[in-house]
Amino acid sequence: MNRLRNTDIKFIKGIGPKRAEILSKQLGIHSYRDLLYHFPAKYVDRSTLYKIKDFKGDMPMVQVKGRFVAFSVQGEGAKTRLVAVFTDGITTMEIVWFRKIKQVKEAYHTGVDYILFGKPELFNNHWSMVHPEVDGVNTVGASQGLRGIYPLTDTLRNQNIGSKQLFTWTQTVLNAAPSIAETLPQYIIDRLKLMPLREALVNIHNPKSPAELQRAKVRLKFEELFYLQLDIQSHTRLRNRRLIGFKFSKVGQYFNRFYFEQLPFELTGAQKRVIKEIRADMGSGRQMNRLLQGDVGSGKTLVALLCMLIALDNDTQACLMAPTEILAAQHYETISQLASPIGINVKLLTGSTRKKERDLIHDQLADGSLHILIGTHAVIEDSVQFRNLGFVVIDEQHRFGVAQRARLWRKNITPPHILVMTATPIPRTLAMTIYGDLSVSVIDELPPGRKPVTTLLRYDENRMKVYQAVNAQIKAGRQVYIVHPLIEENEKLDLKSLEEGYASIRETFPQYKVCYVHGKMKPSEKEHQMQLFASGEANIMVATTVIEVGVNVPNASVMIIENAERFGLSQLHQLRGRVGRGAEQSYCILMSHYKITKETRQRLEVMTSTTDGFVIAEADLKMRGPGDMEGTLQSGMAFDLKIANLASDGQLVQLARDMVDMILDNDPELKSPLNSTLTAELRLQKTSNIDWSRIS
Ligand code: ADP
Ligand code: MG
Repeated sequence: MNRLRNTDIKFIKGIGPKRAEILSKQLGIHSYRDLLYHFPAKYVDRSTLYKIKDFKGDMPMVQVKGRFVAFSVQGEGAKTRLVAVFTDGITTMEIVWFRKIKQVKEAYHTGVDYILFGKPELFNNHWSMVHPEVDGVNTVGASQGLRGIYPLTDTLRNQNIGSKQLFTWTQTVLNAAPSIAETLPQYIIDRLKLMPLREALVNIHNPKSPAELQRAKVRLKFEELFYLQLDIQSHTRLRNRRLIGFKFSKVGQYFNRFYFEQLPFELTGAQKRVIKEIRADMGSGRQMNRLLQGDVGSGKTLVALLCMLIALDNDTQACLMAPTEILAAQHYETISQLASPIGINVKLLTGSTRKKERDLIHDQLADGSLHILIGTHAVIEDSVQFRNLGFVVIDEQHRFGVAQRARLWRKNITPPHILVMTATPIPRTLAMTIYGDLSVSVIDELPPGRKPVTTLLRYDENRMKVYQAVNAQIKAGRQVYIVHPLIEENEKLDLKSLEEGYASIRETFPQYKVCYVHGKMKPSEKEHQMQLFASGEANIMVATTVIEVGVNVPNASVMIIENAERFGLSQLHQLRGRVGRGAEQSYCILMSHYKITKETRQRLEVMTSTTDGFVIAEADLKMRGPGDMEGTLQSGMAFDLKIANLASDGQLVQLARDMVDMILDNDPELKSPLNSTLTAELRLQKTSNIDWSRIS
């Protein structure tokens, strides 16, 4: 493989220095190896020859065998084109070229058999093809099985570099390399019955059959995911071995008193399990970096609090950081209510904390008399100095950048343990890769007695019925949320639709009190409106997604989401989590235009069919792809995967991870000769996808 890596593509017949430069700029292909690893994006079946009379409406690329009857240049100036009449012996069609007219005319002749490969288009009842591939009947690749369509750019197409050229060049390279060194150790290949590398490369470019293509894909995807995981895991394990952390060996007064005197209910099995995992981690002497996933309402806050108490029992301070003032304030209320009675000093620090209170907080943090600090970004400012910070909880981490996390680590000589909590369920296989450096705990059980929220999809024409149901709920003493989308590119329009929605609700329900919240409001006004709803004074809240995170009003039993088709699934799930917090049966009503596409309907039906956040996240990932996943972008990692797909190749991600774990368990530093291939490959792949400096 070294030779392939080191040989410049300019030496390939038909490429040369000029095209080599274009390929390098456009596709990042410099070496023979790069070329072999530029895989087709899809395949078309070239085993069938079509007749023109059998062409149908929207056909993919097809091939036809026949002869050119005549060529003529038509039009003038920029509109000049070459038009040929082509016959398959029964029917004729028109073939059109807009570029390279002179070369085409010289290359192709009438009265000779050719195989054309292109997309049929119907114009004035007559079939035509624009810029088809033209092959002589004996050319390799023509009319043979599956044929790859390569990812290309317009610049390349304009330079006459197409799938056919890339195919030919890969064949040249493969012919020049009768043997290619394996990139995986033989024992892995044997154990997983993987296709050998050279055979996989041959089949990915020129599949012998659909089955062989499948095996080739599995082999190459596995390899890619395997090295990605090996890279992440060997770094993580190394860091874990090196990073000395607090060793929280005690469970003392604070924890025990709280657990036996204050805890308002029995912990769920999942909460107990997760606390055990966290305790074990914090007692290991290494710094903990753990992700706590749990659906909305699964009781993460309580878990966080119990872990903070362990930190206090070990003579350190704890800190909880939330993404918004509202959420920070809510955490502060919950936690101080529970913890103050047993003598724990809890304080809230946000951007709007007054100077006097702020000074007090600084003093108490410094002398150690402040046990738990709760706040927003304000807590990571450099002026905030702890006496001995041992444990940090970050809630809803997708709103915190990695750099901010790193600032927290530096608040102490010994870096504090870090627990990141998120209610955005991230499918396991994705978490494994994106948060490969974090251990993961999952609360997969809701506290008992919760009734799942009933979710319904309704259209504008059902609006009156929906309002009747709303009326009945309010009469029974419940409260109702009505949420409107807010999309940043068009804030004005959205605000208008929000205002109209608000006005129309007040008209429809003159007998009820309606409050109104959006992100552009002054914080004090927002606070006031929220308070109206939280206190039960307002029956209906009309809002944008500002209520997505954190608002906790157990008496609210209906969530109406307007223009639901404009929300992502994860966001809908978060919104739905605002209801179903009390004992009453709750409802989430997705209002949508009647004219939605089939895909949109299917997407919304995921919501009506399940309340399981992980199922929803998986569906979201499948439909939108991982690049779009909330939080993925902010995590600052982009994976340049050539063939594997984190969304649809979950099983292979798992397989790769299991294999990596097994190998590193047995041979942590990859010193065994059996693993020499691995170290060599890892070193060669120094073009590592992950920028480690950004996460550790
Ligand atoms: P999350 O942050 O995971 O969305 P919270 O911690 O806000 O969830 O908990 C949601 C609600 O469930 C809170 O009112 C909390 O007091 C309650 N709760 C948490 N754990 C339990 C439990 N084991 N049994 C009953 N109620 C619980
Ligand atoms: Mg929460």
